[in-house]
Amino acid sequence: MSFLSRRIQNIKPSATLSVTQKANELRAAGIDVISLSAGEPDFDTPDFIKKASYEALEKGASKYTNIDGLVELKKAIQKKFSSENQINYELNEIMVNPGVKFGIYAAMMATLDEGDEVIIPTPYWPSYLDIVVVAGGTPVEVFCPIMKLTADQLEKAITPKTKWLLLNSPSNPSGVVYSREEYEQIAAVLRKHPHVHILSDEIYEHLVYEGVRFYSFAHVAPDLKDRTLTLNGVSKAYAMTGWRIGYAAGSVSLIKAMCKLQSQSTSNPTTISQHAAIEALTGPQDCLTEFRDTYARRRKLMVDMLQQIKGFSCQVPEGAFYTFPDIHALMGLKTPQGKTLSSDIDVSEYLLEEARVATVPGSAFGQPHHLRLSFATSDIIIEKALDRIKQAIEQLHN
Ligand code: PLP
Repeated sequence: MSFLSRRIQNIKPSATLSVTQKANELRAAGIDVISLSAGEPDFDTPDFIKKASYEALEKGASKYTNIDGLVELKKAIQKKFSSENQINYELNEIMVNPGVKFGIYAAMMATLDEGDEVIIPTPYWPSYLDIVVVAGGTPVEVFCPIMKLTADQLEKAITPKTKWLLLNSPSNPSGVVYSREEYEQIAAVLRKHPHVHILSDEIYEHLVYEGVRFYSFAHVAPDLKDRTLTLNGVSKAYAMTGWRIGYAAGSVSLIKAMCKLQSQSTSNPTTISQHAAIEALTGPQDCLTEFRDTYARRRKLMVDMLQQIKGFSCQVPEGAFYTFPDIHALMGLKTPQGKTLSSDIDVSEYLLEEARVATVPGSAFGQPHHLRLSFATSDIIIEKALDRIKQAIEQLHN
């Protein structure tokens, strides 16, 4: 009998983390490695948000709060949904989580029984898959050549066992953003299948570029609001990944069940982080524009440079802070050491060894023959990394 549970043995180590770890090991050995693999803003949390947490602490905010979060924060979230997304939630339809990741975990643990299926369009954020597995469900990957799920693909993937469809727009890793029309087509299919619920992960909401408009799924399909769990948080928009604050909005019964899970696992999200999140949501919002403008400039720089590299074919990301170039054309080429590149993992390893640049292979996201490169880093680093990648790729031969 194994001491470790089957549940835990079924979890794959995060591919994104393992690349970062390899890069860190090289760095620790004194080798200059540039990382384009991280999934978080390189900015510091804005000062006014940090200040709110110091002030809260001075006023004694060191105690437990309600399991589902401070009422003041839930009110700020309620206002955010109504003003930014035109969705009206009651306070008992909202809860605060220790990060969106935990919100997803709580939702899956609260709803999945063995054999329940969860539709996950590719490419996906890898945690979706593992969270579904941990919760005892069956992930159903739907391969999306255009990086977005179509109504047709959804119709074919739904079975009587389907419990959830996971949507993520803007997407990590592809940067695609679903249009209103695309969501309407998806909603039309879902209306025919009332047993399917929708989890909409909107964590990259504020990171959309060049006039692209973000739509919240529950706004586009208000009649499906009760079947939709909307997840969002402060991590990416306000550069607050370490504060661990996300929030969830959905039906009263689901939120209640998720609260039950949270009450017997993490308990309330960290109190001072909740105070910081109130300030993030209700304070001046100029930082969102500043961050977005900076990412937009870096995105252009990265895409322009990628387009100069032979064998890389790069769609321009409409949102989030990643490029996801197609590298099919590199397959079969040989490295100077005589190794034939036969997968995206080979290419990622070659770039780490030869160019000293850490990227994440697309297969980690269910879409092989791609690489994910993060532009949540400085212009100088992007230029240096892409120059090195270009040089390394030029050394490949038939
Ligand atoms: N959802 C997506 C698509 C992400 O890329 C990430 C982080 O990388 C998260 C959720 C996690 O967010 P949080 O920091 O709120 O747990």
